Amino acid sequence: GFLLSDGDGVDGFIKEAVAYGAEKVYVSESPVLKDYRTDPYACGAINLIRKYKPEIVLIGATTQGRDFAGTVATSIETGLTADCTGLDIDPESKQLRQTRPAFGGNIMATILDYPQYRPQMATVRPKVFPMPRRDDGRKGEVIKEPLPMTEEQVRTKIVDFLKGAEGVNLVDAEIIVSGGRGVGNPDGFKVVRELAAVLKAAVGASRATVDAGWIPYEHQVGQTGRTVRPKIYIACGISGAIQHQAGMKTSDIIVAINKDPEAPIFKIATYGIVGDLFTVVPMLTEEFKKRL
Ligand code: FAD
Repeated sequence: GFLLSDGDGVDGFIKEAVAYGAEKVYVSESPVLKDYRTDPYACGAINLIRKYKPEIVLIGATTQGRDFAGTVATSIETGLTADCTGLDIDPESKQLRQTRPAFGGNIMATILDYPQYRPQMATVRPKVFPMPRRDDGRKGEVIKEPLPMTEEQVRTKIVDFLKGAEGVNLVDAEIIVSGGRGVGNPDGFKVVRELAAVLKAAVGASRATVDAGWIPYEHQVGQTGRTVRPKIYIACGISGAIQHQAGMKTSDIIVAINKDPEAPIFKIATYGIVGDLFTVVPMLTEEFKKRL
């Protein structure tokens, strides 16, 4: 693993990386890296990549990761497959097989890099892969590299941080209750929210409801929304379009409530309830209230 940090509390991150499976951790520490900025972070990574020549570089497809990965790949003059939903190693060529939606999500494309361009770089959305087992007894090697950039060389300065909109933390939620077009109108989300409240769950939504302005975008699950992997995903009045599934099909347990027994969501559901969500969801809420 590559680790770029201002050095403050970096030991914790090294231990964390090793506990989750890193055999070697390459660390660049500098006060210049205190807050994320494109220039110094890219500089640190480019320096490590040029020196240690990894075959594959994987980066989280977070807001910062997307910015960072593009800068690094361009400087190194290699390819970048953004927003992968699956990764694999080709058994014969040992090449990285990078899978991601293409053509508006209508097909899944598997991409291989030209052998003359290295490293093979991809960004992967959080939660696409299960968390490896943590083992605090593991030992790893730490290799330190100075950051070849000074504060004077950084083109951006951080002046202030302003608080944004209240976050909807879908990605870390253990339970998500999502509403689709079946809720009918913005008020229809009431039954979804009530069930979510009882289960201490986050509220998700399909794109149809976000596009209709029934609920803000932060709630959207799917290819153009969040990718989630909760323990339980309850889909209420969601048909289960491929683009919605792309963001939730790896949930441990999927419960689907839909009045159409032919809805595609039932093909991936662990439990399916065919019925009107305005009857079924309040019944679930009542029952969970009694039991929890
Ligand atoms: P519908 O498909 O209209 O389904 C509504 C369902 O509710 C139906 O199955 C119906 O039987 C059921 N229903 C109706 N009334 C009731 C009731 N009273 N009780 C129970 N069930 C009821 N979609 C996403 O969700 N996330 C994305 O990120 C996303 N990205 C996309 C990206 C691209 C490029 C494209 C082209 C599409 C994308 N979509 C995405 C849209 C996706 O294709 C679907 O249009 C969308 O997911 C449909 O939302 P829905 O299931 O809420 O609505």
